[in-house]
Amino acid sequence: NISKSRGRLLRAPPRTCNTRETRPVGDVPASFPRVLEPRAREPPAARSTPERRAATRQRSLSRLFEMFPAASMTSRVALGGAAVRTGANAKAKAKARARPVRAAISEPPAAPASEQVPAARGAGRKKVVVLGSGWGAISFVKSLPASAPYDVVLVSPRNYFLYTPLLPGAATGAVEERSIVEPIRRPIAEKGWKYYEAACIDVDATAKKITCRAADPECFDDKGKDCEWHTFDVDYDYLVTAVGAVPNTFGVPGVEDNCMFFKEIVHASRFRREVNERFERATLPDVPEERMRELLTFVVIGAGPTGVELAAELYDMVYQDVAKMYPSRLIPFVSIKIIDLQEKILSAYDRRIAEYATDFFQRANIECLLNKQVGEVKPDAVVITDKITGEKSEVPFGLAVWCSGIKLNPLCEKIMDSLPEGTQENRRSLACDKNLRVNGSNGSIFAVGDCATIVRPRSMSKAMELYKSAAKCDDAGECEIDLDKDQIKAALTKGVEEFPHLEEVVNNIDDKFAVFAQANGRCTFDGFSKMLTEVDNGLRALPATAQVAKQEGEYLAAFFAQCDGDAARLIGDETKFEYNHKGSLAYIGKDAAVADIPGFTIVKGIAAGVIWKSFETISQVSVRNIFLVASDMIRTKLFGRDISRFVD
Ligand SMILES: Cc1cc2nc3c(=O)[nH]c(=O)nc-3n(C[C@H](O)[C@H](O)[C@H](O)COP(=O)(O)OP(=O)(O)OC[C@H]3O[C@@H](n4cnc5c(N)ncnc54)[C@H](O)[C@@H]3O)c2cc1C
Repeated sequence: NISKSRGRLLRAPPRTCNTRETRPVGDVPASFPRVLEPRAREPPAARSTPERRAATRQRSLSRLFEMFPAASMTSRVALGGAAVRTGANAKAKAKARARPVRAAISEPPAAPASEQVPAARGAGRKKVVVLGSGWGAISFVKSLPASAPYDVVLVSPRNYFLYTPLLPGAATGAVEERSIVEPIRRPIAEKGWKYYEAACIDVDATAKKITCRAADPECFDDKGKDCEWHTFDVDYDYLVTAVGAVPNTFGVPGVEDNCMFFKEIVHASRFRREVNERFERATLPDVPEERMRELLTFVVIGAGPTGVELAAELYDMVYQDVAKMYPSRLIPFVSIKIIDLQEKILSAYDRRIAEYATDFFQRANIECLLNKQVGEVKPDAVVITDKITGEKSEVPFGLAVWCSGIKLNPLCEKIMDSLPEGTQENRRSLACDKNLRVNGSNGSIFAVGDCATIVRPRSMSKAMELYKSAAKCDDAGECEIDLDKDQIKAALTKGVEEFPHLEEVVNNIDDKFAVFAQANGRCTFDGFSKMLTEVDNGLRALPATAQVAKQEGEYLAAFFAQCDGDAARLIGDETKFEYNHKGSLAYIGKDAAVADIPGFTIVKGIAAGVIWKSFETISQVSVRNIFLVASDMIRTKLFGRDISRFVD
């Protein structure tokens, strides 16, 4: 039996999905075509069992509630593969149940409160369509006053906001999934705006129109036919794109089929379920030791903050709770490994933090496989190559999670293609100006968060010119003198009036100068060019973090409110987005964390753990969630995590 089930246990199910509830919502366009395949292959008999009919009827009713947004002001989150709805108005539910499904579909109910356009709305007001319900979108929607002269329509396949920093905690039961999601309909309904649960699949920038796609309720009716899609267009005056990014496999073979991704709430539910499943399997009688070792080896690929926090939370779960409830003979077989190409974990953080965290993990017996390049992920092993020695080896696993980077959301490629040629040369994210207007869109498309990059004006050649003039260099870059830090700053300051961006370069030189200067405290022209490139790159690419997305969403809302619907002001230059880095935090396990607070200090260990827990609690987007997260954390401390596993 064990050898029969081995393939299934070791092999994480492929990322394709055969039900609407379990599809990875962040990656919608890629998953749409795959939805059709498994249903088409199903034998007719399997489609007509009474259980199945009951289940599909239940799903039809769930879809029906989408027609009563005001009555069901709640988020629908796929937990453990099943769509769960709480808090819905009982009366509305009963009414909906009484109404035949077919009739409800053909005769839509009167528009609910959130969909009725107030008398003052419509004429003369600008229509703003927001794509997404993540960090960028929710901060835009929450910050834009209802009194601003815009009619807002939000389109997202996910009807809730997800507080991603606590996703690793949700994956191990330290906090509950429902505590870190917020129904997107709440802020939308409060302001009398509209929401459509659908994915945008195309943008026509010339006609100012988007095409959206949602599953038709009919496809959940037990008709035994393939799922049909409901497609519709929405026009806009201004489009705010906040669709985030999607996981990047970097073309490594086997990742899609044999690894889990970790970005959405469904991934957290699945991780929790699969970890528990492996412990239950390993506990069964007569399981050979070798098999136990395989089952209980957990590999995290990518040692950035997401991978590190997931490994840390898993460590806590195993040693604080699982160890107390499962037979002690299992624990020596448990192994948590983290793989990364860099020589330290958290390598993008301050060097002292990276060193501390790496040492902390090693002491906690979390195996850090560093300087290792992943070449392939097989169904039961990761193939790695040592960057230094070139040696190849295999790391067997029971469960592997891919936390190794993100790439452009496919929708952004469509937006780029609909814009004039030459305006979007960087194909990694939507190139925007300092007001977050997408280049080439004439100020009608904006982008925030992981899908946007602010492109700075080309002032680098001016900076070179200024250095050459101050250091008396010839055309080949041979200079009479090398400049020290103050001389460089003075030279660049002369160009600030013509190129205001140079002021930011001047402000950032202090951090970099020591790296590029010679022993005599002066910088050659060559060193200066390299330093300039690095400073400029740092200024261009803001990190793909919630902090950036949130600030961009807030800025854009303030900009829209300030421009008061005036088209000329919305394409003007009144303000610009300025990122204010408030620090970096990461949880590393055993109640410890690392915190880099700019201009203050670096905090490590339990003190940082207290800061991390407090920060992640009070940063929730609603009072309800602050309360839920705080009570989850207290509950976990007092009674441990809930490690039950719900199976169909
Ligand atoms: C596990 C994890 C932990 C993290 N921890 C931190 C942290 O501690 N601190 C931090 O600063 N950052 C953290 N991040 C990064 C942070 O979550 C992202 O940078 C942030 O979510 C980006 O916000 P966004 O609005 O650009 O995109 P997202 O929040 O990803 O939202 C994108 C939205 O667009 C929707 N969408 C996608 N495609 C379409 C479409 N075609 N049409 C309409 N809507 C669409 C999605 O459903 C989603 O609602 C973490 C990320 C992860 C995955």
